[in-house]
Amino acid sequence: MDEFALIRRYFHHAQGDSVVAGPGDDAAIVTPPVGHELVLTQDTSLAGRHFPLDMAAADVGYRCLAVNLSDLAAMGAQPLWFLLSLTLPEVDEAWLEGFAAGLFELADATGISLVGGDVTRGPLSVSIQATGAVPAGQALRRSGAQVGDAICVGGVTGAGLLGLQHWQQGQREGAAVTHFRRPVPQLALGQALRGSATACIDISDGTVADLGHILTASGGLGALLDEAWLPLGSPLLVDCDAQTQRQLQLQGGDDYVLLFTIDPRTTLPEGCHRIGTVESQPGVRLNNLLGQPVPLTLGGWQHF
Ligand code: ADP
Ligand code: MG
Repeated sequence: MDEFALIRRYFHHAQGDSVVAGPGDDAAIVTPPVGHELVLTQDTSLAGRHFPLDMAAADVGYRCLAVNLSDLAAMGAQPLWFLLSLTLPEVDEAWLEGFAAGLFELADATGISLVGGDVTRGPLSVSIQATGAVPAGQALRRSGAQVGDAICVGGVTGAGLLGLQHWQQGQREGAAVTHFRRPVPQLALGQALRGSATACIDISDGTVADLGHILTASGGLGALLDEAWLPLGSPLLVDCDAQTQRQLQLQGGDDYVLLFTIDPRTTLPEGCHRIGTVESQPGVRLNNLLGQPVPLTLGGWQHF
């Protein structure tokens, strides 16, 4: 199968009304929605580094798109179009079929259209560039947190890292492994937070590390988290003692759950909960169960 047959066979797929020309021309043509700003993001996933070499092709397709959609969610954007740059060691039709099935399962569920891309030969890697839209001026930024704001998360954090650990121990099932294989981007939440959240980010490096990005972008603020507010006993963190659950929640990564700051008087959307408060004193502290504030390191996952 040549490159063009491969693209036609696996990557020509139904597209939304805003696509004038998708795969097949020199470049794609799209119509941006009137009165909106475009939001662009890109993420590259290398086999063996960002996903395990033995992960099912359908999960690779799903996950690589999900991490891009999570960035759009964190900006409050509605997903519209994406480009796919695929580097393949060989043409493995069974793999491509699985990959496309997982990719388009999530694309169709979220209304994003594949409009073009690139295929090259080399070590397996998947790079996706996704574009979304927000009503002009309403994107959620990292920079708007205010002293006194509630610090909230859009769900239970920690399952991404726990799922990876379970995977590395040979487990292929369970809630945490599923969360790791197929993280669910919080698109509806991001859009619902437009106009109310003062800052937002999606948790990829760990809660404390990503909170640090908000605090830095918001002018060098600090935070006091409350250990008693971290939920215990979630089915996502089964079989972990309380100490491990809290560590996963604060330091884990790959969660793709939204972390946001908001006026503490606001009623939170369902599934969200408060974990702390923005303070003027820089640094992140944890109010432990004895009521003593202990400093937390900002260290999460860093590539360099
Ligand atoms: P060019 O040689 O002009 O760069 P390509 O041969 O790379 O173009 O691609 C031909 C067409 O197929 C383009 O419209 C491109 O966007 C599309 N395409 C290439 N790879 C992919 C892919 N992985 N998924 C979707 N469309 C793709
Ligand atoms: Mg061309």
